[in-house]
Amino acid sequence: MENNNNTQPTYTIPGEFKSAVEGKCPRCRTGNMFAAPLFSLKSKKMHINCPHCGLKFEKEPGYFYVAMYVSYVFVVAELVTACVGTYIITKNLESPWLYLIVAILTAIILAPFNYRYSRVVLMYWLTPTFKFRPEMYGDRGVKS
Ligand SMILES: [Zn+2]
Repeated sequence: MENNNNTQPTYTIPGEFKSAVEGKCPRCRTGNMFAAPLFSLKSKKMHINCPHCGLKFEKEPGYFYVAMYVSYVFVVAELVTACVGTYIITKNLESPWLYLIVAILTAIILAPFNYRYSRVVLMYWLTPTFKFRPEMYGDRGVKS
């Protein structure tokens, strides 16, 4: 992970987890999957093909429906965390409204995160055909 600012080309290939967090293509770890940053109005816009290596992200029709199951796991984990956190902070066991409001806010605020990272998890860890190919990383994968 050293940052060399000299002219020597350095191929420090980023790790799988770092690439996933940054939303890079699972095959080349160079092109972006999404057209816009996570916290923007267009955060749902996704490239059809990897802008770097050309990998078709939706490898078959309905492929991204599977991401809904991943998203479901995320949401359950977040809601449990948020409600337990609310209880620890407020010690409130009287009002169901408090928990309802916390749950709804959590689901709304984290929706862009869930949408994006459910797809990332699906492509990185649940799709064996999307393997990282080091020969496509960085300048080496540029199509002529
Ligand atoms: Zn790619």
